[in-house]
Amino acid sequence: MGLLKAEALCKSYISGRRRIPVLRNLHLEVRSGEVVCIIGPSGAGKSTLLRLLAGLDRPDEGWVTLNGRPVQSGTPELAVMFQNPLLLPWLNVRDNVKFGLRFLPGCNAAIAQERVAMALRQVGLLALADRPVTVLSGGEAQRVALARALVRQPRFLLLDEPFSNLDVPTRQELNQLIRRLALTEGVGVVLVTHDLEEALHLGDRLLLLSPQTGNFIREYHPRDCVHSLARHRLQEELTAALWALRAREPMSSSQNP
Ligand code: ADP
Repeated sequence: MGLLKAEALCKSYISGRRRIPVLRNLHLEVRSGEVVCIIGPSGAGKSTLLRLLAGLDRPDEGWVTLNGRPVQSGTPELAVMFQNPLLLPWLNVRDNVKFGLRFLPGCNAAIAQERVAMALRQVGLLALADRPVTVLSGGEAQRVALARALVRQPRFLLLDEPFSNLDVPTRQELNQLIRRLALTEGVGVVLVTHDLEEALHLGDRLLLLSPQTGNFIREYHPRDCVHSLARHRLQEELTAALWALRAREPMSSSQNP
């Protein structure tokens, strides 16, 4: 079992002479095999939270741990994926995926080759391994980015709206892959999404992040909704909750001393 944990996180940004509070005293626990979706209005701090979980940014207060150890950028058990695939245009598909293995301890050439092939197979791109990434479609490029994350064989995947620019069938296919990774391989997933249908389909838990309080104000359990009517009601409830949060003012900023 693995446990990704955020405790008492606080984060603010400095803009000019003002301090803009974003997260305040936020707690989160994600277990192996669990898919947790973070939802909230634009500007609530979802991406900020994901960057803190990945160790790509530091909280002002609080800490993030993976199985009790502090998370740092490059922690081998964690992989991150963003909306933009961020591929290296001078490398082909295979070498972009292999790039995900840099700095991974104990990974020799034979292991790397095997892992790259496995990751490409998982995302259905083995046949395109030698293709330059500059000629890929948006969906294919995002699959390469997913393979680059999976090649690390992470215990936790942190996803920031990774499929929001993709066509519906590609998106559904990649969502199924994420669900399979959680169910069969016990990968823990944190997914930031503004797509409520996606959250309801994928999430074991949905956490609503409020820009007014800077932490989670509600937790939803879509798997408890066995019937489609209950699911529909939950979707309506979530939509109303998001609208209500959008209508209010965010936490007020303060003059930077
Ligand atoms: P979300 O992902 O929910 O849309 P973000 O985490 O991107 O929200 O941003 C939360 C708030 O923090 C926004 O008001 C945004 O403008 C601000 N913000 C994000 N990154 C920075 C930064 N590097 N410097 C200053 N403000 C930032």
